[in-house]
Amino acid sequence: MNRGTLLIHNGHEIEPVSGALGVPIIQTSTFNQRDLDCPQEYDYARSGNPTRKALEDIIARLENGAKGYAFGSGIAAISSALGIFSAGDHLIAAEDIYGGSWRILHTFYKRWGLEMTAVDATDPDTIRRAIKPNTKGLFLETPSNPLLKITDLRACLGIAREAGLISMVDNTFMTPYLQQPLDLGADIVVHSATKFLGGHSDVLSGLAVTKTEALGKRVYAVQNGFGAVPGPWDAWLVMRGIKTLKVRMDAQEASARHIAAWLAAHDRVSEVFYPGLAAHPGREIHEAQASGAGAVLSFKTKTAEQARRFLGKVELAATAVSLGGVETIASYPVKMSHASIPQAERERLGITDTLIRISVGLEDPEDLIADFDRALS
Ligand SMILES: *Cc1c(COP(=O)(O)O)cnc(C)c1O
Repeated sequence: MNRGTLLIHNGHEIEPVSGALGVPIIQTSTFNQRDLDCPQEYDYARSGNPTRKALEDIIARLENGAKGYAFGSGIAAISSALGIFSAGDHLIAAEDIYGGSWRILHTFYKRWGLEMTAVDATDPDTIRRAIKPNTKGLFLETPSNPLLKITDLRACLGIAREAGLISMVDNTFMTPYLQQPLDLGADIVVHSATKFLGGHSDVLSGLAVTKTEALGKRVYAVQNGFGAVPGPWDAWLVMRGIKTLKVRMDAQEASARHIAAWLAAHDRVSEVFYPGLAAHPGREIHEAQASGAGAVLSFKTKTAEQARRFLGKVELAATAVSLGGVETIASYPVKMSHASIPQAERERLGITDTLIRISVGLEDPEDLIADFDRALS
């Protein structure tokens, strides 16, 4: 089956008892244990819930993994997956990752004894050079947030495999519809399902998928142990979102391509970052590992004042954090998603006060362009 079909026909499209088209919301905290000597699949809802389990099966299937796990947010998924490492382990992470992932690695996990080296993963050799005897893991995100930098997954994951590292890829921007990191050599894929998978800016959720059953057991131990799980309603909302992922992503990407090209020609815009633009650094690598450019782009105005004025004047985009919803969102990374990264580090990465990130929604692109043009002028 092609991916678009798999989004609908993934083993959970018909509920076997009633014949309902969809997964029932099983709203319970505990399960009747009929036979004390014979363990059953469900006993307590932190450990497992049938609605959540359906979502976990679906994401494992979409990512071609062995096991899927659902969490209460993307960061819950990421920090729980990172919980498989131990004090004294060294981790290599791309420097240009989601601000919240950066924060958990540089604060919480540092206190708990995980060593961290941040590298510019757009150059795979930086990973090779950072490997030490106690290096156990590699954490990547591509395209990156908010500058859409491209990391060569095959090359970097190959280096990780050779060195015996456990590799993780945050696949939030692409979703399994456009990119399947496990097939490119990753061991674990993580998602903020709050974004494109949920797709409607109405639910917070996260997912992790492991390549093997053995790694799945380790992630499950943290899921059950930390307990950062989603409720069944939230799991259901994500499954509902996944059903329309193809049409949303296709339409949002088509608009994003249109808007990126228009912004690139605008005289108040100094730079546009979008993997669908011919001149985007790493575009060829991206096209070799993903089947689309996605619907997130960013651009720089010429002055910080212009950026702030744009955000104040724009009407068809909400000025907000988050992305991947049906509504267009404009965000200001220095004050929002990347505010937790120290200013000097932000500037070194190119995350300046002239940078605006756009998550393109399902509005008519001509209306968005007219609105953006007013806001820029
Ligand atoms: C939003 C996001 C996260 C965090 O997810 P939450 O659901 O907000 O906890 C992680 N990675 C990326 C790339 C994101 O965009």
